[in-house]
Amino acid sequence: AVSYNDVAAFVSMPLSSSHIESNSSDDDEESKSFPMKKLAIVMVGLPARGKTHIARYIARYLNWLGRTTRVFNVGNYRRELVGASQPAQFFDPNNQEGRQARWELAIKCLDDMIAWLKHQHGQVGIYDATNNTKERRKYVKERLEAECIRVLFLESICEDKSIIEHNVMETKLRMPDYQNMDPETAVEDFQRRIANYEVANETIEDDEMVSYIKIINLGRTIVLHQLTGYLQGKLVSYLMNMHTLPRSIYLTRHGESEYNVEERLGGDPELTPKGQLYAVQLAQYIHKEFTAQGKELPLIWTSQLRRSRHTVQFIPTHNICWRALNEINAGLCEGKTLNDVKQLYPKIYEDRMKDKLHFRYPGGESYVDVIQRLEPVMLEMERLRESILIVSHNAVIRAIYGFLIGKRQEECPNLEVPLHVVIKLTPRAYGCEEARIELNPHEELLSDSPSAPSSNVYSDAIPKQVYFGSSENSFSDGNKN
Ligand code: ATP
Repeated sequence: AVSYNDVAAFVSMPLSSSHIESNSSDDDEESKSFPMKKLAIVMVGLPARGKTHIARYIARYLNWLGRTTRVFNVGNYRRELVGASQPAQFFDPNNQEGRQARWELAIKCLDDMIAWLKHQHGQVGIYDATNNTKERRKYVKERLEAECIRVLFLESICEDKSIIEHNVMETKLRMPDYQNMDPETAVEDFQRRIANYEVANETIEDDEMVSYIKIINLGRTIVLHQLTGYLQGKLVSYLMNMHTLPRSIYLTRHGESEYNVEERLGGDPELTPKGQLYAVQLAQYIHKEFTAQGKELPLIWTSQLRRSRHTVQFIPTHNICWRALNEINAGLCEGKTLNDVKQLYPKIYEDRMKDKLHFRYPGGESYVDVIQRLEPVMLEMERLRESILIVSHNAVIRAIYGFLIGKRQEECPNLEVPLHVVIKLTPRAYGCEEARIELNPHEELLSDSPSAPSSNVYSDAIPKQVYFGSSENSFSDGNKN
């Protein structure tokens, strides 16, 4: 059992980063985005309804779009103070002591979120707790509105017992709460915990006079009420694309190009023999991963530039060529090496070194521009149920990879994405599982100029390419971006 003294001591502690779920950078870092009214997204729902999953899913998107977002998870506060191994009785509404302790922890978590939004440049706080009674929501709303913070409630409702059971098995058994407990006992305990919350559960009603989104049965139904504002509209289209079906996203840069060898930015160069060999190896890898296992080939997305399209030439399916997947446009610096840029335009070189994210090549693009043009592609990627192979360029793959693994914009320009490596990302509850497959085309294999996979499995392949957007190649490459 928890003593009030423990709780009292804990709630007076300053904000601790261990309670916060975020990969955000330091609090005192100035946000570079345009000013906006602070927004609090208040999660609502019984346990195992995907609240934490949805909260992190939203945080990942908003941080990538440059909105400093954090998840404040009451469960983490509880585990920190009272320890992870509280029995279901702790959550029993008739247990006065447990109830009081949970209430105070919830308030401490809310206080921390308000402090972060008000004083530490936070833009969107996500309050991840059950908040499943009218009384609790009224309190939270009044506290937030008193601080001029806009409030959006987001309720996840799920009546499908098999989904809930799957959620408990997938996520709850791995929680510190159930370490060293046999799975059967753990599931029973968690079901009792849910039952305790069900006693008092109240879904959001219109008479509460709040803005809300309800996601019912994994998004089969979505209800919107009194939503206003740009960001809320964006969130709705993002959430409408959310699903939890199993699949993987494969990311890779094109094979080595002539400009990679010369260390030049931009242009539309061809693959080198080594790059072509990578195209063969990539086709073999995809064959092994899909066809050989009786699975359908993944969707293939490339940019409209030759080195990217030609990297998938041996995979026997059509590819979609997105203009939005073209490399960052280096403008004035197209075709130059970084050394040329340093000599010819020292100021440009310096500016880029100082702030790679916001630096825009004269007549070209910045990383922020690239992220913005990628947003519709990311929404489409989220919507689709199939596995996808994306073959693109350094800056673009960094941005997509950053999106998938939940990086903030600032981190994207420095992510490690070498040539000739496939990054396989498999979405799981709360995040992505990552594997890196190094294909490394070896010099000794280059004597036979590659034209098709050595196993000849794709010798009859005539790849079809579908263009999205204009096909004019106005963007450029640069392995230095
Ligand atoms: P708790 O209140 O105990 O923290 P929770 O509501 O936060 O529980 P999660 O821990 O997020 O629940 O549950 C994660 C599981 O929920 C994952 O298996 C995920 O696939 C699943 N999930 C994701 N979205 C939904 C949804 N809209 N409805 C039901 N389950 C979902």
